[in-house]
Amino acid sequence: MIEVRELKKKYGELTAVDSLTLEIPNGEIFGFIGPNGAGKTTTISMIAGLLAPTSGSVAICGVDMLKNPTYAKQHIGYIPDRPYIYEKLTAMEFLKFTADLFSMTAKMAKGEFKDRAEAQLKKFSLLDWADELIESFSHGMKQRLIMAAALLHEPKVLVVDEPMVGLDPSAIKMVKQMLVDLAADGTTIFMSTHTLKIAEDVCHRIGVIHKGRLIASGTIDELKQQANADNADLEQLFMILTEPIA
Ligand code: ATP
Repeated sequence: MIEVRELKKKYGELTAVDSLTLEIPNGEIFGFIGPNGAGKTTTISMIAGLLAPTSGSVAICGVDMLKNPTYAKQHIGYIPDRPYIYEKLTAMEFLKFTADLFSMTAKMAKGEFKDRAEAQLKKFSLLDWADELIESFSHGMKQRLIMAAALLHEPKVLVVDEPMVGLDPSAIKMVKQMLVDLAADGTTIFMSTHTLKIAEDVCHRIGVIHKGRLIASGTIDELKQQANADNADLEQLFMILTEPIA
């Protein structure tokens, strides 16, 4: 579960995120859409505990991110839009490095890390590349490795910034199915995207942010009501909701 209360971020005079309040229950995929510069990445960085808010709060599975960041972050898998990845490591070494960051390996039985890492690499079609240097990977392979690493500690909350950029159609299909399966198992997913078709396909609810403010949120049917547009698809709703105050 993710609880965001009156979240605000100011960069100097600019209010990038203003008075954002959201509650995303277990097992929900929440899509976060908005024009360029609307405040999506700023919001995601605050939810993931990478950026301190100017005011307001974030709680992950009931744990306050500001008061108890280490424990709150244990529950989060974070997939950034521009991931930093150590290219001189192999895929398996990168997963080991990630597991050590989460203090996972110390708590595991012998062989458990390898089994878990291989299962993730297999899920993302990277098992044959486990011992290859990441610098030899394509962009899509690196994206898939980042996803495998983010899921390694079996987080209850997944925070994803633009998950599908650079992935081919079969990888997009696989990632969409993975998000749906994770949510069905109770994982809470917060996902920002510009790919409205993907948001329409997988998200239970969608929030629209514009100039730092949440201007609409709900199911597609609820967004249609808010926009007074019964027959609109998400792209048309996005235009209707964001254009009048542009
Ligand atoms: P995009 O869809 O283009 O990735 P976004 O919705 O993710 O955009 P943010 O990156 O959150 O938007 O940016 C929101 C606003 O805050 C923008 O006006 C941006 O220029 C500004 N901003 C973001 N990071 C900083 C920073 N470190 N310092 C100053 N201003 C920033």
